[in-house]
Amino acid sequence: MLETKPAYLPNQTVQIDVSSYHAVALTVSGGLDSASLLHMICSAAQTQHRDKVLKIYALTIPNRGDVVCGYYASLVIDFMKSQFIGFVEIEHITKNIDQSGEYKTVVMEEFQKEYAEKKLIDAFFDGVTLNPTSNDFQFVPPAKPYIERMDHRDYHPDEPKFEKKKAYRIDYCRPLANVDKRYIFQYFKDHGLEEKIQTLTRSCTSTEKVICGECWWCAERTWAFGSHDFFSINFS
Ligand SMILES: [Zn+2]
Repeated sequence: MLETKPAYLPNQTVQIDVSSYHAVALTVSGGLDSASLLHMICSAAQTQHRDKVLKIYALTIPNRGDVVCGYYASLVIDFMKSQFIGFVEIEHITKNIDQSGEYKTVVMEEFQKEYAEKKLIDAFFDGVTLNPTSNDFQFVPPAKPYIERMDHRDYHPDEPKFEKKKAYRIDYCRPLANVDKRYIFQYFKDHGLEEKIQTLTRSCTSTEKVICGECWWCAERTWAFGSHDFFSINFS
C-alpha cells in the first residue's frame, strides 16, 4: 500500500485490511475519495483474498436534483470491476432521495443497519477525507447558494480522526480520515491512474452544471489535481 508522509501529518499511512471479511459496503458518490477507497479495497482483496471473491456493496445516494452523480458512480464501479476481475464482486445499489444532504446520512445509517442485521456485510467503509490542510488552498465563495465546507472534515492536531469503530456489530472503517486530497492524487499517480480517474469522476456539487468550477468541491479538486475536470487533460 502506498505511503506518503505530508509534513503536516508525519508517519501518515492508509491501511486497508479486508482479510477477515466476506463482504463489505461503502458509499460511492462518483467523486475521487470514494473512487480511491474502492480501488484500495479491491487492491486489498486482490492481495489478501487469494482463494475467495470479496463481495462489495457500493451504495450511491445522489443529492437532491443531482442527476449525474449516479452516472459517474457507475463509471467508477464499472472501471473497478474491469480491473479486478476474479477478486471482487461489486453490486451497485442506488437510493434516490428528494431530501437535503442531512437526510442522506440517515439513509446511509439505515442501509448499514439493515445490511448488518441481515449479516450481509462484515464492515462498512467510509471514504471521508480531511479538508485541505495547507494555506495554499483558496476558496472564494460563489455569489449564490452553495454547499458549505464540512467542519467534521477539519484536521485537529490533538484529535486524530478515529479510523475504526464498531457499529451495528460490524466494523466501521474510515481509513482516509487523516489524509487530504493530495494523498488521493498521489495514490492514483502511483498507480498510473491520475488522468484516467479524472475522466471517471466528478466532484462538483452543483445541480445546475456537471462541473461548475466554483463550488468547494471543485476548488478542492483543482487544488489537489491541478485541474478540476478532464477537459484540460492532454490525452496524447
Ligand atoms: Zn462545482
